[in-house]
Amino acid sequence: MDKNENRKNNKKKKSLIISSIILVSIIIVLVGVAIYYLTNNKEKDDKTISYTDLIKEISYGNVEKIEMTVGSTSIKVKFKDVEEEKRAIIPNTEAFVELIHEKAAEGNDIDLKQNPKSVLMQIPATLFSLFPTLIMLALVIMIFKMQGLGEKGQVYEDTERKTKIRFKDVAGLDEEKGELIEIVDFLKKPEKFTKMGAKVPKGVLLYGKPGTGKTLIAKAIAGEADVPFISMSGSEFIEMFAGLGASRVRKLFDKARKMAPCIVFIDEIDAIGARRTSNSGAETENNQTLNQLLVEMDGFSSEETIIVLAATNRPEMLDKALLRPGRFDRQITIPNPDLKGRLEILKIHSEDKRLSDDVNLASIAEDTAGFTGAELANILNEAAIIATINKHEDIENSDIEEAVKKVTVGLEKHSRTYSEKDKKLTAYHEAGHAVVSKYLETQTDVKEVSIIPRGVAGGYTMYKSDEDKYYISKTEMKEKLIALLGGRAAEKLVLDDISTGASNDIEVATKIAREMVTKYGMSDNLGPIDFQGKEQNDMFVFGENIGDKIGAEVKLLIDEAYNEAQKLLIEHRDKLDIIAQTLLEREKINEQEFKKIFE
Ligand code: ADP
Ligand code: MG
Ligand code: ZN
Repeated sequence: MDKNENRKNNKKKKSLIISSIILVSIIIVLVGVAIYYLTNNKEKDDKTISYTDLIKEISYGNVEKIEMTVGSTSIKVKFKDVEEEKRAIIPNTEAFVELIHEKAAEGNDIDLKQNPKSVLMQIPATLFSLFPTLIMLALVIMIFKMQGLGEKGQVYEDTERKTKIRFKDVAGLDEEKGELIEIVDFLKKPEKFTKMGAKVPKGVLLYGKPGTGKTLIAKAIAGEADVPFISMSGSEFIEMFAGLGASRVRKLFDKARKMAPCIVFIDEIDAIGARRTSNSGAETENNQTLNQLLVEMDGFSSEETIIVLAATNRPEMLDKALLRPGRFDRQITIPNPDLKGRLEILKIHSEDKRLSDDVNLASIAEDTAGFTGAELANILNEAAIIATINKHEDIENSDIEEAVKKVTVGLEKHSRTYSEKDKKLTAYHEAGHAVVSKYLETQTDVKEVSIIPRGVAGGYTMYKSDEDKYYISKTEMKEKLIALLGGRAAEKLVLDDISTGASNDIEVATKIAREMVTKYGMSDNLGPIDFQGKEQNDMFVFGENIGDKIGAEVKLLIDEAYNEAQKLLIEHRDKLDIIAQTLLEREKINEQEFKKIFE
């Protein structure tokens, strides 16, 4: 093909692409207009009231009832002494609900009804949700055509820039930082290492739960070394069409070579590096992507100062080939922060916030065992919002405590009304948890019992946080089961009926019991065997009815715990009644009040 013809061809294809872009845009606009018309039209004929007028009416105390539908900003307003209802559009549903609660606190009670999504609402919603898929499909096809042209055009942009994040921004994780500092050194002065004949790792895998700071620490390495940070997420590699993932990997590393010294960060590497097992379509595509990654990592020499960092929270999923020498031969576990780490994280994230003098970050750190860095950062942010709503000068300790509860059990829902019968049931359920755990040696003290609904829970019993510990004993797990089943046991004992309110407790208890048997080898009858092992077909190893045996052991643990819970409640029925009664009167019992009842 001569050059001229080639160019013509390219031009043709370019105009084809442009026209398809135009076509897609037109379709988007048309459908958008149609949906807008569909969803808004029916409301036009109703009487409406503007948002500002609505706010005025609310402050005058003229509003009796408000009806909202989840996911919609269109609400129904019923005024006092007026039959007909009006409609209004609110800018932000959450802020609006807060406002109503605020008014309620001021004594201006408005009946707030929140309906689940109506079927009618869902039709446009499903249409909407189909949209991105359609657009993506069109885009992917176009990208393909572009690639077919062999054009060097930039198909996608990696995030690449020098980050300002330093090790000092990463709280805790001292040992991990210590291990990673050598990579910073290498990126800064590669000659120093190569002269010595030292082999520096090419790849480092960071293992850890979401939100523990893997991305943060990877950025901090780039920041400390003052090199570019090129990142991609494994899930971005997963494509519908074969070959695209592999070509993205190639491009990523082409770019890295040009920018070396640099850091390449692959987040969620499990999405591409999953173990190669079956031969389904998606897997084959993954294999190509994974193979390309392996080729690239084997390809660059140790003089090229590129360090590949990857993060995952599912290390057991990874293909072993990734872990061979010369690839990700170093693995670092990023743990959930310990007490000291949590305090440091809270300090770092409160630097830009206005904290009142009464805030005791150390005690908040104690109360948040098991929380990740991201969750702690989130708590401080929530606290700032709660302080604003409460019209506090600055963030008070109570705001942070409320934020901790909001993050763990959800927001209090004062507006939710429920019947006396439900209330009694909830009171006994929660009292059941609290009383039972009081008599269990290993369980932590009760911090708060409440029958005010929060999030999806009708009530809750909060325990004092555990100190950080690495091992949990069998006794402790058994007692945990008893505490979990205390709610259901109380319902049965007092009301001689049981409710769906215990479903979450039962779910958690079953999971613990199953793990006791299959993971921690705590069943006397089955012994210390890992039944969760990697073997797909346990029955070939342990016999055909191994499933039945495991089931029987799990059931035994649960039955024992349930019986024990009932026994404790019968024995301490007086306390159960007092606590349930107090809850019915006051809705909430705090730590001191709870302790007093037992004195
Ligand atoms: P991961 O990549 O492990 O899911 P990230 O690095 O994205 O977690 O962390 C999310 C956010 O949580 C960070 O941006 C930061 O605000 C906060 N965070 C997590 N760990 C720490 C830490 N050790 N020090 C300070 N902030 C942290
Ligand atoms: Mg991350
Ligand atoms: Zn419960």
